[in-house]
Amino acid sequence: MLIVMESGADENKIQKIVNFIKDKGFDAHVSKGEDHTVIGAVGRKVIDKRDIELLEGVQEVIRISSPYKLVSRVFKQSDTVIDVNGVKIGGGHVGMIAGPCSVESYDQMDITASKLSSCGVKILRGGAFKPRTSPYAFQGLGEEGLKILREVADKYSMAVTSEVMEVSQIPMFLEYVDILQVGARNMQNFNLLKHLGEIRKPVLLKRGLSSTIEEWLMSAEYIMSGGNREVILCERGIRTFEHMTRNTLDISAIPVVQKISHLPILVDPSHATGLRDKVAPMSKAAIAAGADGLIIEVHHSPETALCDGAQSLYPEDFRVLFDDLKVLAKVVNKKF
Ligand code: PEP
Ligand code: MN
Repeated sequence: MLIVMESGADENKIQKIVNFIKDKGFDAHVSKGEDHTVIGAVGRKVIDKRDIELLEGVQEVIRISSPYKLVSRVFKQSDTVIDVNGVKIGGGHVGMIAGPCSVESYDQMDITASKLSSCGVKILRGGAFKPRTSPYAFQGLGEEGLKILREVADKYSMAVTSEVMEVSQIPMFLEYVDILQVGARNMQNFNLLKHLGEIRKPVLLKRGLSSTIEEWLMSAEYIMSGGNREVILCERGIRTFEHMTRNTLDISAIPVVQKISHLPILVDPSHATGLRDKVAPMSKAAIAAGADGLIIEVHHSPETALCDGAQSLYPEDFRVLFDDLKVLAKVVNKKF
């Protein structure tokens, strides 16, 4: 951290700042320029920079080290590759996850999974506990939904992911799912994240509705600091002033995250756009931009879906997209 003193700040003021940061456990390196004195605070302690900004004689405080450690490429240079029952995600491997928004019945999951599996999809999605804006909307089948998801996935030799909403559900999820999904609305549920740090299964961490990339990476840091090193990030669109799409897909988050972090990053074009006809173009854009995979909503009968039918692809459309993506992946040097 660099502390820039006001022009003409005297020795007394400089010394007070030096003493303050030393008391907080930092080393202080003072550099006197013609106009300004700059104090470099070096150390591994955490300090709120506003506490220094408020001190007398301080003009500006510039943070130069990142607040995340374990998620960063400084900690681990090579891409993290996560293996989900033999399916690799990250480090040049594209992971494809597809399925309906919610598990509605055995037959619904069976029809969808059989079609997806015949395309080559190896990870099935389906919500059993749904975070709905309205308490009157379909809330999911609960544990029954997880059982159906597992049973159907086993029938087609697929892995599964589903959203866990609270700490008390974690043991139940460990029984049924291969990847525990943290939804956008829970990205900063720090208690949940801490508990997910204690498990040894991959966590798919969605970006919060209005979260910055730094906040998102800090949430990943919560999970990793608990000892769980298998975090998959997922960009699912953020809230902006634009209303033509459900959210605004931040494609630039892909290269931004990949420069800072070794963790794989997926894109969810379904929740990002909220509209079926926008899913294929955004999926292609994401793979072209270097995403490590996609999570796409597919329903055998979107018109009758209990949740997110408008953004769900028909299985036939998904097949066409999947084949296109295979071609595209080769162009950007990714293995499907
Ligand atoms: C979902 O994947 O079903 C979901 C609710 O997504 P998000 O948390 O990104 O809104
Ligand atoms: Mn959904």
